[in-house]
Amino acid sequence: MKKVLWFRRDLRVDDSMLLSVEGEVLPIFIFDTHILNSLPKTDRRVAFIFEQVLSLKAKLKALGLDLALFYGTPLEVFSYLKTLGFSDVYASVDYDAYAKERDEKVGAILRFHALNDSYLFEPTEVLKKDGTPYLVFTPFYKACQQLYTQFHVLKYTKATQRLCEFDCSALWHIEKESKTALHVKMENIGFIPLHVKLLEPHKALEAFTCKLDAYAHDRDFLACDATSHLSVHLRFGTIGIREVVRYLVALKKQGHTTEPFFRQLIFREFYAYLLYHFPHLAWKNYKYTPPYEENQESYERFITAQTGYPLVDAAVRELLETGLMHNRARMVVGSFFTKHLLLPWQRGEAFFAEHLLDYDASANILSWQWCAGTGIDPQPYFRIFNPYAQSLKFDKEALYIKRFLPQLRDIPSSLLHKESYLLSHNIPHYPKPIIQHEKARKRFLNAFAHTT
Ligand SMILES: Cc1cc2nc3c(=O)[nH]c(=O)nc-3n(C[C@H](O)[C@H](O)[C@H](O)COP(=O)(O)OP(=O)(O)OC[C@H]3O[C@@H](n4cnc5c(N)ncnc54)[C@H](O)[C@@H]3O)c2cc1C
Repeated sequence: MKKVLWFRRDLRVDDSMLLSVEGEVLPIFIFDTHILNSLPKTDRRVAFIFEQVLSLKAKLKALGLDLALFYGTPLEVFSYLKTLGFSDVYASVDYDAYAKERDEKVGAILRFHALNDSYLFEPTEVLKKDGTPYLVFTPFYKACQQLYTQFHVLKYTKATQRLCEFDCSALWHIEKESKTALHVKMENIGFIPLHVKLLEPHKALEAFTCKLDAYAHDRDFLACDATSHLSVHLRFGTIGIREVVRYLVALKKQGHTTEPFFRQLIFREFYAYLLYHFPHLAWKNYKYTPPYEENQESYERFITAQTGYPLVDAAVRELLETGLMHNRARMVVGSFFTKHLLLPWQRGEAFFAEHLLDYDASANILSWQWCAGTGIDPQPYFRIFNPYAQSLKFDKEALYIKRFLPQLRDIPSSLLHKESYLLSHNIPHYPKPIIQHEKARKRFLNAFAHTT
């Protein structure tokens, strides 16, 4: 029986479920034209994935295997592999709408085996007594804590595997019935080579050790490098969730405070779990339908970091420049977008999806729904972040603001948290606030009172 090992959200060889599948195997990676065709040629994620895929290929070779590379749609690739006598495909779970539909269709071509290699828990494992899914994070978290055993973080070892005969030296462009051998180069999948500067996952984990005890307190401070920077690696599986938790367990034994960080990892599980059980959350509100205005000018000012709210604009600049955004900033921006600007969360979600290196459908969609107050267990709709109070609290010296908005460098930090100053002064190369905070707050609450 010839098995395909389809790498996608699990680009590693350590502790890999795919590599624990015994027998005659062909590890593959597909540069999916269905996804790639809609991305800009300079997409950082594609560059990151390309680098990781080459590194994975080298590591697999060192293990006596290899990685076959394809460029095409998964359906075309699996139809082709079927003609070569492959019968089964193994892949890590993926719960977003496109992935679910794609996997179902692939399952009609080859026998599909979904492996829970990206999360600790299976979505059907954590249920309420009546068998329905949890709708509130804290009880879900408690249930996870109770269910958790060392088996959830057991390390998978490599099985005995034999590489199926296949020419892995080329990048195979599969299109309809034809197949063309291309050189393994970014340009051949239509992208410009870029280098994404990101700390290697084990270095990130090591660097985080001395920050762990202060994590709960420091993680919200925007200029304080207090978080793990693991989101991109967890997203693409360049480090496995089980390894991160084993690392926490070891540090807990040494007396470190690990619970606040573990809680965030369970948030990641919760959001994937919700999207699995309630796929319509990807586009539909769960709780309310808040008031929205399709105001293109507000949207343009937001995406070009021209709202005149320093924290919001700095955060958008961070996203555009680095492909990431501090979590506290994401929360403030999500609230501002939906409540101050009355824009639909779906548009903000799509903007993040376009730029975030760590973009993950479940984390992004559910977090946007949280900010908008529309999701399952969301931020209450009437809680509207005051961006000035947020920057005063979490970026008092305006270090974060000034890093991403250099035109504000010479303005005393205290003034950047004061609306009265920003409204009454002409700052070179920086606009006045798009709307007064209090006016925006009242406008939202008033509009909300008239909706369902
Ligand atoms: C509007 C909005 C959109 C977001 N979009 C994404 C996204 O697309 N992808 C993504 O991975 N995270 C998203 N987050 C969550 C969070 O901002 C990032 O996970 C975090 O900033 C990544 O930095 P870190 O790895 O240093 O996090 P740490 O603070 O070190 O957290 C450790 C890990 O826990 C997980 N995590 C932390 N917070 C959350 C959360 N709220 N929801 C789900 N998982 C969490 C991540 O995997 C993260 O790597 C979003 C949050 C908001 C408010």
